[in-house]
Amino acid sequence: MTSQPRPAAPEPKCLPTTIYAGDTYCLYQECDHTPVGRYCTEVREETVCNTHSRFVMAEDDFDELVHAEPWPCKQTPAVAR
Ligand SMILES: [Zn+2]
Ligand SMILES: [Zn+2]
Repeated sequence: MTSQPRPAAPEPKCLPTTIYAGDTYCLYQECDHTPVGRYCTEVREETVCNTHSRFVMAEDDFDELVHAEPWPCKQTPAVAR
């Protein structure tokens, strides 16, 4: 048995993704606001890191964001280039 550290698994690559943030009713387009395009003005677009944000599959195949990691992502340690 050796106690050599095993090579760490490669960090998953950070990927920006656009999410829609807002009230559930707004996201389900069941609110009374004025729709602008797909969603009403209460819904805002945000760019987060897809890799480090956590989504849970909610009912209706609606991905619920439980943790948003702002983009640009700071989770990956800066690697010497
Ligand atoms: Zn990330
Ligand atoms: Zn709304």
